[in-house]
Amino acid sequence: MNQEMEYGNDYRFIPATSIRSGIGTEVLPDLLCYTVQIVNICLVGSPDTEDFVLVDAGMPGSANEIISVTEERYGVNSRPKAIILTHGHFDHVGGVIELVKHWGVPVYAHSMEMPFLTGQKSYPEPDPTVEGGMVAKMSPMFPNEPIDLRNNAQSLPSDGTIPHMPGFRWIHTPGHAPGHISLFREKDRALIAGDAFVTVKQEYLYKVFTQEQEISGPPRYLTTDWKAAKQSVIKLAALKPAAAITGHGLPMSGELLTTSLEKLVNEFDQIAVPEYGKYVN
Ligand SMILES: [Zn+2]
Ligand SMILES: [Zn+2]
Repeated sequence: MNQEMEYGNDYRFIPATSIRSGIGTEVLPDLLCYTVQIVNICLVGSPDTEDFVLVDAGMPGSANEIISVTEERYGVNSRPKAIILTHGHFDHVGGVIELVKHWGVPVYAHSMEMPFLTGQKSYPEPDPTVEGGMVAKMSPMFPNEPIDLRNNAQSLPSDGTIPHMPGFRWIHTPGHAPGHISLFREKDRALIAGDAFVTVKQEYLYKVFTQEQEISGPPRYLTTDWKAAKQSVIKLAALKPAAAITGHGLPMSGELLTTSLEKLVNEFDQIAVPEYGKYVN
């Protein structure tokens, strides 16, 4: 089944980290958030079962670390049933090819992300001129060429269900990426938001390093459609999530999450949208 999968030509290790790197937080008994350098992955499924999935696949070069974290939680030689991607940016697919080879599991993403996962289309260039800090300035080094998962990548079912994630549904939350999705579980109102919004000002290297918790719109240097991004945040706030794991920053829950999301919706143009940048109109 496996034709040769490959990363883009610009795939490379990114030397950025945070004090949370290597730390896992159990947000719920069946929901682990683990930080790889500056990005979060999730393991969804209770540790006493074999039915679990990995959401997102970390930074370039992180596959072995992700395998270790998985085996620590679910046992030696355990493997998820699938890998679900919130979107295909380099910091969410960094280890995916090695993981697919090691585990032999399918990868699911929104159909609109498929071109970026099957070698057909590059993401737009990151914008180093966007209003923001050092991470924005260093963004030209970030890979934006598509990876090619060949036939290991599949589109999510169009009915909103997510394979191997009973109780969860995917919600299309474009703006940061065309096929960006968030994952929501009605029962306990748990949300995996990807980069639709994040809880750290991802443009600022020192805030990323210290992981200072602060609601923020999607990372600016890679967001190309701010109108859609705003609608996506409105959509997620309306779900009234009780706990959220975002692609970057600490998990947030309860009253702080409610008030922070309200604030982000009401002040989106001030908080999230940059003053200037090539994707701001
Ligand atoms: Zn992203
Ligand atoms: Zn990201």
